[in-house]
Amino acid sequence: MKVTGVRIGTIRAPLRVPFKTALRTRTEIESVLVAIETNTGAIGYGEAPPTGVITGDTKLGIIGAVREHIAPAITGREIEAFESLTSCVEHAVIHNSSAKAAVDMALWDLYGQQCCLPVHRLLGSARTGLVTDITISVNTPDVMIRDTLNAVARGYDTLKVKVGIDPELDVERLLAVRKAAPNARIRIDANQAWRPREAVRILNRMQELGLGIELVEQPVLAENIEGLKYVRDNSDVPVLADESLFSPKDALEILRLGAADMLNIKLMKCGGITQALRILAMAEVTGTECMMGCMLETKVAVNAAVHVACARQIVTRIDLDGPVLCSYDPVQGGAVFNEKNIMVSDLPGLGITGFDSAFVRWHEN
Ligand code: MG
Repeated sequence: MKVTGVRIGTIRAPLRVPFKTALRTRTEIESVLVAIETNTGAIGYGEAPPTGVITGDTKLGIIGAVREHIAPAITGREIEAFESLTSCVEHAVIHNSSAKAAVDMALWDLYGQQCCLPVHRLLGSARTGLVTDITISVNTPDVMIRDTLNAVARGYDTLKVKVGIDPELDVERLLAVRKAAPNARIRIDANQAWRPREAVRILNRMQELGLGIELVEQPVLAENIEGLKYVRDNSDVPVLADESLFSPKDALEILRLGAADMLNIKLMKCGGITQALRILAMAEVTGTECMMGCMLETKVAVNAAVHVACARQIVTRIDLDGPVLCSYDPVQGGAVFNEKNIMVSDLPGLGITGFDSAFVRWHEN
């Protein structure tokens, strides 16, 4: 099986409610879609959402990286020579982790099809189902209570609550959420919003009030690894590294310094399935539990993360709520999302079979 070309397009999916974090507000998902074509007719699909404020990857940047650097590097190459093919993607251009993730997952899709195995089975298949949390956006306490009650009614037992827009209000918001969901597991994500001392103060206050926070995600600036360690060392709430962790090299540094209790792996940050497996290997060696997370992505990319999460037991927490945040899913095939329950696809490769054409636009190459 040989790569004959790479098509590039865009895919859209409408959100149920606006998605608000300390960094941005969105009302729909719009991602770059790639389709890698082969001489056998098999097609591998991949996706990269532009997340400029997180990864630095913009829509035109992703398209340019794929079109000008990665596509020429892989066209004409054999899928069988898989290790050299994925390495070729990594070295075709520096940075651009989202563009690399889209192409890398599309190649894994093809490799699985070539081997007649779903990717999660190729990788070891620890399980075939997952349970995800759901995100509650930062809003006024009233709106957060409404969203929390709605999530509980839909069966979610783990809430990931966004905090950090106004530190003074964070405790109040969490009290409101806890009251609305007394039995839920609550994890919070500050998206880099706090200073280290402030984070410790807020977290200790939350625990004193009996909020029972399971973990805090990225309390301080991404670059401030020492600050992350300070929060870990001085608060009782376990620290999960998100924006501080992109590459396997970042994981090595965080683990070496003991700066976080857990790692949040997202394909868009690390550059795809191949790189995620490297981080997971380090996590396995050090016994560091991982969360598998996603950006605001459609099911194409989240589905790839589902395969990885199903293949590794060190992934103990799932934050793959992209598709359930949407009011319509334009992607056919792949994992089945039934609210919190996710069932991996057992079709060869990643199992995406098609799209609602009204939500996809393929570009002329
Ligand atoms: Mg996060």
